[in-house]
Amino acid sequence: MGLSLTAQAHAIAGKNLSNGDIAIDATLGNGHDLLFLAKKVGVSGKIFGFDIQEQALQATRCRLENEISGKNITLNQACHAQMSGYIPKHLRGKIKVIMFNLGYLPGANKSVITQVDSTLSALQQSLDLLAPSGVITLLAYPGHEGGAIETRQIDLWCKQLNQDCFDTQLLVCSEKATAPRLFIIKKRTGSVLSI
Ligand code: SAH
Repeated sequence: MGLSLTAQAHAIAGKNLSNGDIAIDATLGNGHDLLFLAKKVGVSGKIFGFDIQEQALQATRCRLENEISGKNITLNQACHAQMSGYIPKHLRGKIKVIMFNLGYLPGANKSVITQVDSTLSALQQSLDLLAPSGVITLLAYPGHEGGAIETRQIDLWCKQLNQDCFDTQLLVCSEKATAPRLFIIKKRTGSVLSI
């Protein structure tokens, strides 16, 4: 059996990160990705996390506790469509990895899910925030209500990106229409344009 899509997202993100780098977790959820990112960038790095639910921030803080120093980690209870405003100007264009894991928070209210408009807005902002050769990983779940439309819109959004500036890939673990999919968007080195 191959690696799970989550493991593949971590492998791709991990390859792009070293000590001292800056990364964003756009959907904290239970904090797995944030902890992964924080370990990769170390104490000299910096991480920004976003989630609209207090419960996700708490779950993330809980996961970090006893694991690592949280000094260089900023958790924002905010929609990722506000992302740019939370990233200091001097760090824009310097973010090495931005991770998204869409859908609902496992174990919480399933009616709170990521939405097409805010997801696309966050993705668009991510393009400018990324450093050259920086990467976005996005896990989408077409199997839940609203998820199929969101996944389709993300697919279309990826296809309209300027392929001279961004390299996009799609990984699936099964051909089923409802199977999760991993989008990978890499900013090409030397790219100055984002649209
Ligand atoms: N589906 C994944 C987990 C995704 S968690 C799995 O099964 O493992 C997705 C997180 O995104 C949730 O915690 C939810 O609160 C958060 N979220 C939803 N809309 C958001 C938004 N607009 N901005 C930031 N986070 C959001």
